[in-house]
Amino acid sequence: MKFIETRGNDGVSPEQVSFSEAILSPMCSFGGIYIPESFPSLDTSFFQKHVNTSYKDLARDILAAFEIDIDQATIENALDLYNHFDDPSDPAPLVKVKDDLFVSELYHGPTRAFKDMALQPFGALLSSLAEQRNEKYLILAATSGDTGPAALHTFKNRKNVQVACLYPVGGTSDVQRLQMVTEDAPNLKVIGIHGDFDDAQNALKTLLSSDGFNQKLKDKNISLSAANSVNFGRIIFQIIYHIHSYLELVRLDAISMGDKVYLDVPSGNFGNALGGYYAMKMGLPVENIIIASNINNVLTHLIKEGRYDLRESSVIPTTSPAMDILKSSNVERILYDLFGANRTKELMQQLDQEKYYQLSRDELDQLQRVFSADFCSDDEGKKYIQQAFEKGYLMDPHTATCFKAYETCREKPLKTIVYSTAEWTKFSPTIANALTGEVDTHDLDALKAIAKEANIEIPAVVKELFDKKITQNTVIDKENIKQEILTFLD
Ligand SMILES: *Cc1c(COP(=O)(O)O)cnc(C)c1O
Repeated sequence: MKFIETRGNDGVSPEQVSFSEAILSPMCSFGGIYIPESFPSLDTSFFQKHVNTSYKDLARDILAAFEIDIDQATIENALDLYNHFDDPSDPAPLVKVKDDLFVSELYHGPTRAFKDMALQPFGALLSSLAEQRNEKYLILAATSGDTGPAALHTFKNRKNVQVACLYPVGGTSDVQRLQMVTEDAPNLKVIGIHGDFDDAQNALKTLLSSDGFNQKLKDKNISLSAANSVNFGRIIFQIIYHIHSYLELVRLDAISMGDKVYLDVPSGNFGNALGGYYAMKMGLPVENIIIASNINNVLTHLIKEGRYDLRESSVIPTTSPAMDILKSSNVERILYDLFGANRTKELMQQLDQEKYYQLSRDELDQLQRVFSADFCSDDEGKKYIQQAFEKGYLMDPHTATCFKAYETCREKPLKTIVYSTAEWTKFSPTIANALTGEVDTHDLDALKAIAKEANIEIPAVVKELFDKKITQNTVIDKENIKQEILTFLD
């Protein structure tokens, strides 16, 4: 399988690359990103076969269908990372919450958010490739809270890869911060930045395009890669669980093979939703993909009106911070798939320059054949958390946005899979407030309150964080990031 570029080729970059090249150096012509040249199609016999296999068997066969240039032993090592999930035989369990609403829980990995589903195996793949090629890589990550812990965990002590992770001081939950600052390994550096997530992200982008910095890396023989979902190495693992969830519905006898379902996805950078789109393209029977947002609702406008408009907007902090995103990176891959490289380049350049684009009527029709969308305010989200809890289901504020979209976006009474992207432990003050009305400034108080109210235990991996030694103490102004990272690399 070859990979090509969303904005076409500039005549300097290679016209096509292999999977391993695409994941080692994900940047390409005109600021575009890599997509597979074509997609495997999975037929009913494939799905039928996997009704009775394990998650790993399914994953192995999907990766095989992509014909990626990774040897089988490396793939097996990567898939073995699912052994560290709560239930190794079912890393993403499906839970029935209402007659036709099922929740696919994607947060049962080591850092308690859905990033583990892809980053766990991805970390193993990337570092094996780097080692096999005898190359050194630096992963730079700016995190609002979930990517950081998951990236640090997966690359911890891995060979040939170093990670520098920037987070906004005061901008994450206590649990998220502790997950980062207690990670202790010589190849990891965690840097707190005075400022918000955008400051951290912008500082990182400036660094990436700084000639001085890139030259220094070259001198040290270090290449840059990326662990966010612009890297197709993450997306490929995010196709699998959509297919798995569908097969779970078949196993539960909730649907018959071939019945269509809705996928309802809490979306930020659109990686999760893109995985669902590709699963659908490969043959999964999906009626529509529902895109749930918070009040940072650029995606709702895009899908309802065909307009991507950043001219008036700035990020509004919400109780679902992993979705506080305005420039959603993976939309570009949808544009490519529906409208081709020329049009994608045109639209993305317009977005960069004018902070705006408008699709034609015909293009919007094509988009709406696949997607529908709605957004959910924090107050509404709180209400959905309360309602679900009264029915016996505890969920986080990101998942809650899907419950609104479930009510407003479905046109047919089909079974719906809602994707739950974080455990209650990661956003406990919001949840405690929804359940008891209390206002906590510390996660530990909120965690205890929820545990008591729901009569459950705080998971050990979360509880232990509060007693762990803090090893990553660096907190700096953004002007000093470059020097801090260069010092770490020495
Ligand atoms: C990353 C994240 C999301 C957004 O996922 P995308 O793939 O970026 O759309 C939603 N919820 C949580 C909890 C996350 O960590």
